[in-house]
Amino acid sequence: MYFCCMCVEVKNITKFYGSQKALDAVSFTIEKGAIVGFLGPNGAGKSTMMKIITGYLTASEGAVLVSGFNIATEKISAQQKIGYLPEHNPLYLEMYVREYLMFNATIHNISKEKVEAIIKKVGLTPEVHKKINQLSKGYRQRIGLAAALLHEPDVLILDEPTTGLDPNQLLEIRTLIKEVGKDKIVLFSTHIMQEVEAICDRVIVINKGQIITDKSLKELKENQEQIIEVEFDYKIEKQFIDTIPYLKSATNIHDTIWQLTFLTSNDMRAEVFDFAHDNGLKILQLNTKNKNLESLFRELTT
Ligand code: ADP
Repeated sequence: MYFCCMCVEVKNITKFYGSQKALDAVSFTIEKGAIVGFLGPNGAGKSTMMKIITGYLTASEGAVLVSGFNIATEKISAQQKIGYLPEHNPLYLEMYVREYLMFNATIHNISKEKVEAIIKKVGLTPEVHKKINQLSKGYRQRIGLAAALLHEPDVLILDEPTTGLDPNQLLEIRTLIKEVGKDKIVLFSTHIMQEVEAICDRVIVINKGQIITDKSLKELKENQEQIIEVEFDYKIEKQFIDTIPYLKSATNIHDTIWQLTFLTSNDMRAEVFDFAHDNGLKILQLNTKNKNLESLFRELTT
């Protein structure tokens, strides 16, 4: 046994399904208090990675440590630290909500009081007397989350927890994930960039089994390009254009029309207006064509 703080360490994980390499030397570390979005198109390897972290699949190469416990060689100790909500939330539909959670609690030797506290925490109190098959998908996800939280894990692994939810349910589950994630590690997979923007501190993008980006949301936003197309009333030289701050490149599209690319999260329209004013120019047209995180994701994964 090792001593380690609350953390998940994924070291060089490779996974073969037959001859297909589903994960290719994936490494990352997540520490306490982080909500990490695990983003990638379908088939990228997200579920495979999550099943390996939780010990439901064995890696072909590499190791995963969960709060210091090796998931392959100290499986039970490691799994005690993990709450897992699989992609197809497996519930006993004929059971009542409280009955189902009590049943899970008994397996883990968890007190009734603890179950009641979790029911309250995930907002299941009004539905607790109903059968699971009478509940909406949003409430079923809450039950899955409650079950994953029962044993007070350090780490929550949520495989596409918001897929199939309507916009209200989606907001509610996102808020809940943010709330319960405050003193844990949360790794949740999604293929929706907005979701990552809404709740994550960090995003790991995976494509074809390889990590292609691992950045804080702040870093990712700062690296976004901002494109402005502007038409002045006079033709000007590129050397003047080049004096505009944060300019990455400038292309003369036609005579007096320029396409300006900036590398900053600041709104550069005001700078362009100031530039025109300082140089005695008038702006006849200005359009922004910003690349948002969604288009960045498409670029990264296609
Ligand atoms: P994601 O969760 O990102 O959609 P998966 O981890 O489910 O991706 O799948 C990654 C790749 O591994 C895909 O090409 C998928 O077809 C393949 N795969 C997943 N599970 C199995 C399996 N049990 N047997 C064979 N191939 C699999």
